[in-house]
Amino acid sequence: MRLGRVLQVILVLSLALAALAGAAFGGAALAVLQPELARSTAGYLAVASKAVARLPQPARAEGHGRQGADDGYVIDAVLGVDQVVAGQVTVTYTNDSTVDLDRLVFHLPRGVQTVTLEKLDGAQAGRDAARDGLTYTIPLKGQVAPGAQVTAVLKYSTFLAQGPRRQGISDGGGLWLINDWYPSLDVFDGEGWHTGEPAAAFGDYSFLATATYKVRLTTPAGLNAYAPYGDRGRVVATEGSAQTLAFEAGPVREFALVLTNEHGAVAEVGQARPTLAALYLAGHEPAARGALAAARKAIDTYSELFGPYPGPGFVIVEAPITDFKGVEFPGFILISSAQYEQGSGVESVIAHEVAHQWWYNQVGSDQLLEPWIDESLANYATALYFEKEYGPAAGRSVLNAGAFTLYRSRRAAYPESSVAKPVTAFATEEEYKMMTYGRGALFLQALRETMGDKVFFAFLHDLATRHADGYVTEKTIRDEAAAAAGRDLSDLFDLWLHRPDGQLPR
Ligand SMILES: [Zn+2]
Repeated sequence: MRLGRVLQVILVLSLALAALAGAAFGGAALAVLQPELARSTAGYLAVASKAVARLPQPARAEGHGRQGADDGYVIDAVLGVDQVVAGQVTVTYTNDSTVDLDRLVFHLPRGVQTVTLEKLDGAQAGRDAARDGLTYTIPLKGQVAPGAQVTAVLKYSTFLAQGPRRQGISDGGGLWLINDWYPSLDVFDGEGWHTGEPAAAFGDYSFLATATYKVRLTTPAGLNAYAPYGDRGRVVATEGSAQTLAFEAGPVREFALVLTNEHGAVAEVGQARPTLAALYLAGHEPAARGALAAARKAIDTYSELFGPYPGPGFVIVEAPITDFKGVEFPGFILISSAQYEQGSGVESVIAHEVAHQWWYNQVGSDQLLEPWIDESLANYATALYFEKEYGPAAGRSVLNAGAFTLYRSRRAAYPESSVAKPVTAFATEEEYKMMTYGRGALFLQALRETMGDKVFFAFLHDLATRHADGYVTEKTIRDEAAAAAGRDLSDLFDLWLHRPDGQLPR
């Protein structure tokens, strides 16, 4: 549903984009296109694609993703009119496996409308690239050998939803949550590509490798940007009511950002690193200050437990979202306005989302196929935060409320369920949460009791630092836990993660 104010934004932006594309169209064509632009996606795409075509050819991605010394993304995109993002993404990827690559497999954003392969360097495209759901596969004729590098340039357009969700444009048009917005290479593990579809209504959307990013984005002027680690971007051009911003980031798990003209901001004073800021909506400054204080304590606690925080800054962004209490992105999180209004529980939401800066951003895991890994670690870390800050009784109480009660109260409804399964294998959000957040966190407590505190915390710290900018699977965790404990722990893993609920000892 499009409201009046958004229509205004759209109209203004139409004019801006038309102005941007003016050189290509000439004045006479603009007069014809403007009314068309204001109401049709096709009209917008015509202008946006011309605007994108005018952009300089992308340089090769630079920097250092996990896969290779100069792997990464270069993204040039225009966003705005009719809620469409149109752009070009250049992905440079080094085959770090020991086998030839016979294809490249991309994850597409949920709102994808069009995607085409523009150019391929380092390999020859095979028969036609094909899209299946949110997976886009480019077959390769000349295979990419181990150590060889390949660069693909895709053009694409994708739709941003409007409304109170973790991605999209707010009803008033003053807040843009830009995530899951570009095609990204799936993860190749040496045997196959990790592809997976997100569930319709819960869980995360993608699993990506860390990479470096160079991003150039044309947006409505007057919106302030907050990208990974609080990067505000650099204004490289303004034309009419459009601005073009440039960012560099990485290695990060994904490039997400927030654009806003609605927020007040508070920042922590002092020299501590990372720098902290919180963006709040009208009336919520005290809540934002409380969240800021909790975030500092959580970052300090987790830095001690899991190793250093991975970036220079961290931002808490209040958003009027109704689908999540909080959502994690590299270097920033969203927290729902409802959470601030409710008052209680803010500290545990902050502790949970901050923990994802280690378990998801720094240490990846397949959030579609093994969603329990980052969620159980973040949820258990929340209990650890309360334990370290307020004592063992507080830690137990948070584990009790956030995991045990959650799990126990619903278990009768899902007697055959288990923890370690893909997000789409959970029938409901309730089942997903009780297993991945609830029983998954209880598993970590059981692991701790089995290993003893000293060994368990050394194991967690090693897991986080050893796999920083990489990713872990259940097998990684199982093998490293066994090595740390000096004995096989398969029975414990099987019992807690794979056996149906009913077989868990009382
Ligand atoms: Zn989480």
